[in-house]
Amino acid sequence: MADDLYYENLGALTLARNEFLNATLDRVFIFHPHYRRLFAEHGIGRSDIRGVDDLVRLPLTSKADYVGNPPAFTLALPDQYEAEERIVWDVMYTTGSTGDPTPFVSTSYDFLNILAINRNMLRLRGVTADDVIMNLFPLTRYPHGAFARAMNAAAVFSIPVVAALPGTASARHPALGHRMDEVCALVGRSTPTILWGVPSYMRKMLARAEELGVRLPSVRLVFVTGEGFGEEARVHLVDQLKRLGAPDPKISVSYGATEMQGGMVECVPGGGYHNPAPLQFYFEAVEPETHQPVADGEEGLIVLTHLDRRGTTMLRYALGDTARLSRSKCPHCGALTERLISVPVRRDGFVKIKGMLINPQALADVLAADGGIADFQAIVDNEVEGNALSMDRLRIRVSPRGEDLDGLRRRVADQVKATIGITPVVEIVAASDVSPDRNWKAKPLIDLRKQPK
Ligand SMILES: [Zn+2]
Repeated sequence: MADDLYYENLGALTLARNEFLNATLDRVFIFHPHYRRLFAEHGIGRSDIRGVDDLVRLPLTSKADYVGNPPAFTLALPDQYEAEERIVWDVMYTTGSTGDPTPFVSTSYDFLNILAINRNMLRLRGVTADDVIMNLFPLTRYPHGAFARAMNAAAVFSIPVVAALPGTASARHPALGHRMDEVCALVGRSTPTILWGVPSYMRKMLARAEELGVRLPSVRLVFVTGEGFGEEARVHLVDQLKRLGAPDPKISVSYGATEMQGGMVECVPGGGYHNPAPLQFYFEAVEPETHQPVADGEEGLIVLTHLDRRGTTMLRYALGDTARLSRSKCPHCGALTERLISVPVRRDGFVKIKGMLINPQALADVLAADGGIADFQAIVDNEVEGNALSMDRLRIRVSPRGEDLDGLRRRVADQVKATIGITPVVEIVAASDVSPDRNWKAKPLIDLRKQPK
């Protein structure tokens, strides 16, 4: 088999993709609860879809379809299939429609594919056998791809990784995790060549490292994911690293999703976000209203099809963003795979805060259900006002009904953390101050963040 990233031509790649897609569809048509029902409703038979070019015949799947009934998206393969196709290796979670996170199930078969995805991500980003990774992702409340897959990526590339474990994972184990100054010291003495994490945390950590006099001359690559990241942010991060002694740091941005257990990555700064596994993922861009395919390089809703999965499996799944998609061979690295050649823009009402995708309606619902709250407003802004490069901050402004303000403050913080996984700043205000601008009231979450340029 050819190297999956570097097929000679689209015809050869399509043939290889169709083989994997057909094996997946043989299972989906019989054992996938959601698609069995959907295909029956639409009168779609197995013989209607013989390859990736036929996928346009299928209706789109939305995030709401998936989070509304996650078990219906996992193949229920019976015993006659190989154990590796059926045995669950791990379950990662993405945000749900209510407070409950949505499981994304991977079998042993899928886990090997995930290792292959992560290996290709490192290849595209120019990682070598001499690199050392510093994993700056925090432990999350529920299993989440970022922390775990950075560890897996290092393992499959056989290179060292140091987990910084920023923050406190749990009040039960206050010693698990590192405070900011400890992380800075760890980064300094581990001499990493690659820093990998969420950009806003990275900027904050590097600013503190500078104050502490930490030097990072070994850093040559920075992998960022999970937040909007523009050219201004890239220049700022490069400048920060140069001040810390890194001679020529390069920033590689990834567009990640739980549904990929990896991300679309840049081969060079500005080179576009590459589909890292063309034999596992097939991407399309469609017109957001009509769902008709758009021309190559035009802006459209980004749609993902799993060509080779056995656990949670999606066909024509709208990831919730629009971007421009190109199918031409990458002029920088020669990979023949889909690339997003513009920064993806969120379109489905979900919001990313501190790199975590959250559902604003779930947040509003839990606050509305609290009898101690007369009125409330949820705001996400920058920790340093008007500075797009500072950390995201979630503020919950509540006007109380009752006397126990400390109790209310604690309860709101706990409920919000339990619902969306993010600890908010809780502000007690008078009822008249909750929403001075009535136009905001209809929105479950007001986003005042300055967009990075
Ligand atoms: Zn490339």
